[in-house]
Amino acid sequence: MATVTVTLQDYKTSEKAWWCPGCGDFGVLAALQKALVELEIEPHNVAVVAGIGCSGKIGNYINAYNIHVTHGRTMPVALGLKLANRDLTVIAAGGDGDGYAIGMSHFLHAMRRNPDITYIVMDNRIYGLTKGQTSPTSQTGFETKSTPDGNLERPVQPIQLALAAGATYVAQGFSSNQKQLVRLIKGAIQHKGFALVNTFSPCVTFNKVNTYDWFKEHLVDLDEVPDYDPHDRVAAMRFVAEHDGLVTGLIYQEPESIPFEEKLPGLGRRPLAAQDLRPDKEKLQQI
Ligand code: SF4
Ligand code: MG
Repeated sequence: MATVTVTLQDYKTSEKAWWCPGCGDFGVLAALQKALVELEIEPHNVAVVAGIGCSGKIGNYINAYNIHVTHGRTMPVALGLKLANRDLTVIAAGGDGDGYAIGMSHFLHAMRRNPDITYIVMDNRIYGLTKGQTSPTSQTGFETKSTPDGNLERPVQPIQLALAAGATYVAQGFSSNQKQLVRLIKGAIQHKGFALVNTFSPCVTFNKVNTYDWFKEHLVDLDEVPDYDPHDRVAAMRFVAEHDGLVTGLIYQEPESIPFEEKLPGLGRRPLAAQDLRPDKEKLQQI
């Protein structure tokens, strides 16, 4: 069999990235391209489902299939793609506004279904595309045009939600820690089941609080916590809560995860009308 050689050039497009100079999304794009190359996945086997927001432009800058979906709908489209073609590497990507506001219910239900898709959220704790409003992950007291006297609400905690909803791969990265982010995305793609990679990706134009320096000062890197066990969901929940969600690394992975689509062995191999939708009862008993 011929050896496949995939290079970074294969994943580049001619379109110039539109993001502001210094935007964290550049780092996420670079890490995703590198992860795909290192895994030797060919571009025609990859689909990027991108949400609405600055981060949603990411699909335009990767030479793979790209669907730019309506606001908050990356999860159902990604799930549909995976069910229709299980050989495809399906990557959903979007921002904290897209995924954790209008897309929240899809996010929660995708995790409990556990399809084999990777979800990268570029979390900058603000709405960047619409020029700087408070988002679901903005901190209490955060002052923006939409909350000039400070945000009255508590922020959404995506990692804690993911752990509670039954996600089988939960990781958090930082766009300027490329080495770790590439590893986390590779692990997410290789994982059999739903994989969340929430990534702190600073908005240098509108978020003057959660800057690169701020994250560097506050993040706890799990690679430097020697006794951390990423296979203990309850311990992970406690650790993340104790550190106010400011943790990077592989937070949790279930070793024996069975993806949703594998529980329906007859699905996705023939025309829809001819498909056998009876579940595999043995696999239904497992997670
Ligand atoms: Fe990035 Fe913020 Fe500029 Fe959008 S507004 S491209 S999130 S720096
Ligand atoms: Mg945002």
